[in-house]
Amino acid sequence: MELRPHHLLCIQKFTGHGYSPAFTAHMTALTASLRQSPAQSVTLICGADVLCAKCPHNRKGVCDSAEKVAALDAAVLETVGSMSGTWDTLSKAAREQILRTDKFHQICGTCQWYALCRSTEDSYASENIS
Ligand code: SF4
Repeated sequence: MELRPHHLLCIQKFTGHGYSPAFTAHMTALTASLRQSPAQSVTLICGADVLCAKCPHNRKGVCDSAEKVAALDAAVLETVGSMSGTWDTLSKAAREQILRTDKFHQICGTCQWYALCRSTEDSYASENIS
């Protein structure tokens, strides 16, 4: 599965809110799939990914907030430091190095979803943290 780096964060904080009903349904199915199969291979790509595929902000393969999401992707990629791995490995790195550190605010502080995400436990914590 190909994912934008910053989606390592969004997926773990997802609580059923999204940009449109179709997007939310798609993201619900995707998060369920990753929860069921944490050994799934993930490749990080700085471009439209499997989540963007159903997003109303996806304009022919380019996000209409391209500059903003590119900055998010770069910050997450630099921190996680790996382009590929299993979902379990990459999501754990994102939790431990971003979601549970000051980097969460530094990277996501200006995102429209930040307040919601800040108040939400990362949904994978209880299942996968060792
Ligand atoms: S198109 Fe943009 S807003 Fe939509 S999921 Fe992709 S990165 Fe996020």
